[in-house]
Amino acid sequence: MVYSSNLGFPRVGANRELKKLIESYWAGKVTQEALLQGAKEIRVGHWKLQQEKGIDHIPSGDFSLYDHILDNSITFGVIPQKYQHLAPGLETYFAMGRGLQKPAVEGAAKIDVPAMEMKKWFDTNYHYIVPEFQKGQQFTLAKSAKVVNEFLEAKELGIHTRPVIVGPISYLLLGKTAKDSGDFDKLSLLPSLVSAYEQLLQRLAEAGATWVQVDEPFLSLDLTEQAKSSFKGVYETLSKASSSLKLLVATYFSQVGDNTDVLTSLPVAAIHVDLVRAPQQLDTVLEKINSTQILSLGLVNGRNIWKTNLAKALESVQKAVSKLGGDRVIVAPSCSLLHSPHSIEGEKKIEPEILDWLSFAVEKLREVTILAKAVDDAGSVKAELEANSKSIQARATSPRIHNPVVQDRLKNITPEMFKRNSPFPERRQSQEKKLGLPKFATTTVGSFPQTKEVRLARSKVRKGDWSQEEYDSFIKSEIEKTVRFQEDIGLDVLVHGESERNDMVEYFGENLDGYVFTQNGWVASYGTRCVKPPIIFGDIHRPKPMTVDVIKYAQSLTQKPMKGMLTGPITCLQWSFVRDDQPRQDTAFQLALAIRDEVQDLEKAGIPVIQIDEPAIREGLPLRQNEWKQYLQWAVDAFLLSSVGVEDSTQIHTHMCYSDFNDIFPSIKRMDADVITIENSKSDLKLLSAFETHSYTNWIGPGLYDIHSPRVPSVEEMEARLGDIVKLLPNELVWVNPDCGLKTRGWVETEAALKNLVAVARAARKQY
Ligand code: GLN
Ligand code: ZN
Repeated sequence: MVYSSNLGFPRVGANRELKKLIESYWAGKVTQEALLQGAKEIRVGHWKLQQEKGIDHIPSGDFSLYDHILDNSITFGVIPQKYQHLAPGLETYFAMGRGLQKPAVEGAAKIDVPAMEMKKWFDTNYHYIVPEFQKGQQFTLAKSAKVVNEFLEAKELGIHTRPVIVGPISYLLLGKTAKDSGDFDKLSLLPSLVSAYEQLLQRLAEAGATWVQVDEPFLSLDLTEQAKSSFKGVYETLSKASSSLKLLVATYFSQVGDNTDVLTSLPVAAIHVDLVRAPQQLDTVLEKINSTQILSLGLVNGRNIWKTNLAKALESVQKAVSKLGGDRVIVAPSCSLLHSPHSIEGEKKIEPEILDWLSFAVEKLREVTILAKAVDDAGSVKAELEANSKSIQARATSPRIHNPVVQDRLKNITPEMFKRNSPFPERRQSQEKKLGLPKFATTTVGSFPQTKEVRLARSKVRKGDWSQEEYDSFIKSEIEKTVRFQEDIGLDVLVHGESERNDMVEYFGENLDGYVFTQNGWVASYGTRCVKPPIIFGDIHRPKPMTVDVIKYAQSLTQKPMKGMLTGPITCLQWSFVRDDQPRQDTAFQLALAIRDEVQDLEKAGIPVIQIDEPAIREGLPLRQNEWKQYLQWAVDAFLLSSVGVEDSTQIHTHMCYSDFNDIFPSIKRMDADVITIENSKSDLKLLSAFETHSYTNWIGPGLYDIHSPRVPSVEEMEARLGDIVKLLPNELVWVNPDCGLKTRGWVETEAALKNLVAVARAARKQY
């Protein structure tokens, strides 16, 4: 019999109940008891739902009040010194996740601890709390371990779950070494950690668990020989922890590749592989799997929102069954459904034709059980299989998806379309002549404070309380305010402030054909924060200019050069759910063509400077290094396609942030933007020296201050930073700007910070 299973369920709830509950607790509106009770109800609801859908192996321990890696840190006592004086339990937990500030009260000193570092969970948009390890750290299992408690909670309801934990090797590799510990090998901590894991497994066995899912996502990444060779010993120990427990080691997000032998030689009852990201690995794994292992097939995409092609997935199930026998096959989503929205049930605005193509977490569960049933009892799911194949057919042949105009343009892309007319030195001359900017030219990254009034205005038109005209004139007044503000401060290249944009991707999506939006398609990003990525379902086409009127209006208000603001093709791609019926590259090129048209229209409208933001370009890097080259080739090509169709004298800016760019530097260089403004808030000299090492010759604006904090940076502070910058970069290439958009800031601190920034630039013009 083929079993169905799930690797993890989205925690947040059908209507983000968990988010609202936790935030009310933070705001002091809900007691701890009510929080814990409410969270339990959400968990229980999710178990029952999975049971209803017919899942055999239902996960427990996948739920979290903030982050599952933080939960694991608490379970094994990995609590940095600075949190140890806090009240144990939720106070410590949330302080580690998001920091804690409390004024002094009678009898208690003030508390002021920052949050721990947060990092992207592999190539998803989920962020986890990075564990911090001390040299020689000893791990101790907490008296009350969350994963055991939740197993028991489900058991009490008569639901026998499969507890999920992150494996010890991945847990260590996800972490960092504490600053005061110096550099040491994290894997040297394995012996102590593994013995704490052994105790945890014993406790789970005593509680009555039969299966435990141990996630080792690092098995899908490039590993050092040392890390590779540590797996066998660790799992020999863990598999002996209890004779009544069966372990499933789960990998996901990429191919197991050169780690396949490691995975298939582990002495564990089952292994899981991602067959959505890496379908080709089924054959290798079937060939190499050891004779006692059960194989869990990740066939339903946990990372995207399209219905699974069940007929095609069934072929893989049947292949595995014919090789291993039904008793050694489990059907599962490719990875935890944490990365999927909850259910399509809440979607009332998507047209039925398109809605029929979608499958969120709840619907995916059913797909898993249909696939499992189809082997043993095909008759019982015949109707559902037929309905699925109809939807798949309908989507593939829908005229809504294909736009011959776009297809045609894609076919007719020529090599010239990736090149500017002249190399940078010549462009620079024309731009200097046209713009007449001073050395150390000042600008901002685009957005200005999005105050309550701006958000309110948007909600007024949405609700129909305001007419479109009322809204437009409100936006115009915001633009005028922003332009005057920048003129008063004395900035050189101005922006319109982006007040008409709710989100830098959504805004363009709403103005392009081929995009659709959900009402409730929320996905966890970090803590209680969720994002609602738009869906690219068809060919991307720009029916009309998207920003030209607004930017033209902004330019009409001032003699200073106005910078047109666009979101780049790769960032649109990365922050959307992307269609899976064509290579991502093709979708990127379609987006690029639409943006190219916009760039050219802005130029025609007399806009002298255009910025194309690509903050997400590095996020798209594949997990396996041998796939980087190919990605960077088409990603940079897409940027070039969007940006190069202009005269020499039109100045193209780009902006990047959030990550470490050193390892993709040659690609940044190939983007050949005239000006790049880049986050450098950690005053990272390594980043700056990369510009030097790779002899970067275009203009560069390393952010002079961190916009993520309301703190106003002083002139001296920014001067010192600029001093470091000009030591490494030729000063005639340096621009002066903040490190990202000012959307989340208030006007008062923005004014003070930008005044200081302009003062720094003016002084630098004299000094250097
Ligand atoms: N232009 C955008 C802004 O200023 C850039 C945002 C970003 O880099 N994420 O808000
Ligand atoms: Zn940014």
